[in-house]
Amino acid sequence: MANLDAATLAGFTAGFHGDVLRPGDGEYDAARTIWNAMIDKRPAVIARCSSTADVVRSVNFARDNRLVLAVRGGGHNIAGSALCDDGVVIDLSNMKSAQVDTAARLVTVEAGATLADLDAATQAHGLATPTGINSTTGVAGLTLGGGFGWLSRKYGLTVDNLESAEVVTAAGDVIRVSASEHPDLFWALRGGGGNFGVVTRFTFRLHAVGPNLLSGLVVYPFADAKSVLRQYREFATQAPDDLTVWVVMRQAPPLPFLPAEVHGTEVVVLAFLYAGDPSHGDAAVAPLSRFGTPVGAHMGVQPYVNWQQAFDPLLTPGARNYWKSHNFATLDDGLFDVLIAAVRTLPTPSCEIFIASLGGATSRQAADSSAYGQRDAQFLMNVHGRWDSAADDQRGVEWSRRLFKEAAPFASGGVYINFMTAEEGDRVRAAYGPNYDRLARVKQQYDAGNLFRTNQNITPA
Ligand SMILES: Cc1cc2nc3c(=O)[nH]c(=O)nc-3n(C[C@H](O)[C@H](O)[C@H](O)COP(=O)(O)OP(=O)(O)OC[C@H]3O[C@@H](n4cnc5c(N)ncnc54)[C@H](O)[C@@H]3O)c2cc1C
Repeated sequence: MANLDAATLAGFTAGFHGDVLRPGDGEYDAARTIWNAMIDKRPAVIARCSSTADVVRSVNFARDNRLVLAVRGGGHNIAGSALCDDGVVIDLSNMKSAQVDTAARLVTVEAGATLADLDAATQAHGLATPTGINSTTGVAGLTLGGGFGWLSRKYGLTVDNLESAEVVTAAGDVIRVSASEHPDLFWALRGGGGNFGVVTRFTFRLHAVGPNLLSGLVVYPFADAKSVLRQYREFATQAPDDLTVWVVMRQAPPLPFLPAEVHGTEVVVLAFLYAGDPSHGDAAVAPLSRFGTPVGAHMGVQPYVNWQQAFDPLLTPGARNYWKSHNFATLDDGLFDVLIAAVRTLPTPSCEIFIASLGGATSRQAADSSAYGQRDAQFLMNVHGRWDSAADDQRGVEWSRRLFKEAAPFASGGVYINFMTAEEGDRVRAAYGPNYDRLARVKQQYDAGNLFRTNQNITPA
C-alpha cells in the first residue's frame, strides 16, 4: 500500500481498541461486503472502531500517511462510498448504542446504528424520529444526506430533527456541533453528506408515535395503472400531513393476501402509513381502495416498527443494484406514460419503481435552513434496477438509464444526494442548488485538504 510501512501500521494497531482487518484476515471479506453487491472494493485497512478515540486515531492515521479514507455507517449507500480501494475504512458498525432521555424527548445514538436499532430504542418508550423505509439502512448516512420516510410529512426530514452531533474533524479534533456550537458546520451536516468529518453520535428530537398505527397496502392490476396514478396524484397532493402514500410498481411478490394468479404480474401498489390517531385513519385511507378494483389489500393497526420493516424482504442485501432518481414538483401525465412503458419491459423480476410522497413538513422549512437543498420536492422517483447475476448488469443498467432519461423532461432538475450512483458527481450542484457555495466554504474551513472525499464530493471553496 502506498505511503505505509509495516512499522507505521503496527504503531496504529497497537493503540487501537477495536479490530484492524487486513486482506487475508478471516473477517476481511465479510467486512468489505456492503448492501449493493455490485460494489467490490479492497481496502488496505478496515478499522472497525469501538469508540470515538478509535475514530480519532484512524482519521489521524489516514491523514498523516496520506491514505484514501472512507467511512462506513450502515453500508447502504448505492454508490459504494462506504468503502475505498487500497485505503483506510473507518467502520462504525460496532458502535450502535442508543440512549433515550424520555423527559427531554431526545435520543443519542452512535453512528453505526441501523434504523432498526434506533426504532427499537425509541419505540420502547412510544417515541420516534423520522427515518427511512428499510430498517437495515444506517442512521449515519441517511441522516447526513437528509433522511425521509413514513413520518416525514408530519415531522420533517431526519435532519430537521437533529439537535446536535459529535464530530471528529479532519484535524482529529472532537467537537460538539449544534445550533449554538459551530453553527456553520451544524448547517452543513444537515444534508451535506459526510463531507465535513466523521460523526460519531447524533442526538435527535423525538415525537410520540404509536406504538400502533394504521398502515398497509392496496394493490391494483397494471391495466389500471394510468387511472390509479392520476387519482393518486390528486389524493397525495391534498393528503393531510398524517398520511403518507407511496407508489411501488413492480411484479407482484407472492404475498399471501394476493391471489396466486396475480403473483409475478405487474401491479401498482399503494403503500401507506397514517401517523395520526388510528381511529381516524380508516376514513382518511378509504379513498385509496376506490381508485378502481384492487386485486388485493392488506391493512390494519399494527406496531409502527413492523411497518418500518415491511419492505425489508424486497430490499435484502446481496443483490446487484443500480439506481436512478429524479425529484418532481408535480407528476405529469406524460411521466405516467413513461413509467407504464418501462414497467411493461422490466428487465428482471426484482426491478421496480418507487414514487415517494414528500411535501408536508419537509417543504415548510426555508430552502437555506439546512444544507439539504430539495425543499420544493413534492414527489421523488427512485428507479430500483435490481438483479442477482452479473450477466444482467448491462440490460439492467440500460433499462434504468433509459427510464431516467425519458422521465427527465417532467422532473424538477433536483435530486436526493443519498440516491445518487457513483458516476453522478456532476449532479452534486443540482442536489444542493443555491446551498452549494456555502457548503464549499464550510468544506474549506473544516476539510481544506478534502480528506473526506469518498462521497458525493463538495470541492473546498
Ligand atoms: C434499500 C434502501 C432503502 C433506502 N431507503 C431510504 C429511505 O426511505 N429514505 C432515505 O432518506 N434514504 C433511503 N435510502 C438511502 C440511504 O439514506 C443512503 O443509502 C445512505 O447513504 C445510507 O446510509 P448508510 O450509513 O447505511 O450508508 P454508508 O454507505 O455506510 O454511508 C453513506 C455515506 O455516508 C458517509 N458516512 C457514513 N457514516 C458516516 C459518519 N458517521 N460520518 C461521516 N460520514 C459518514 C459515508 O462515507 C458514505 O459516503 C435507502 C437506501 C437503501 C439501500
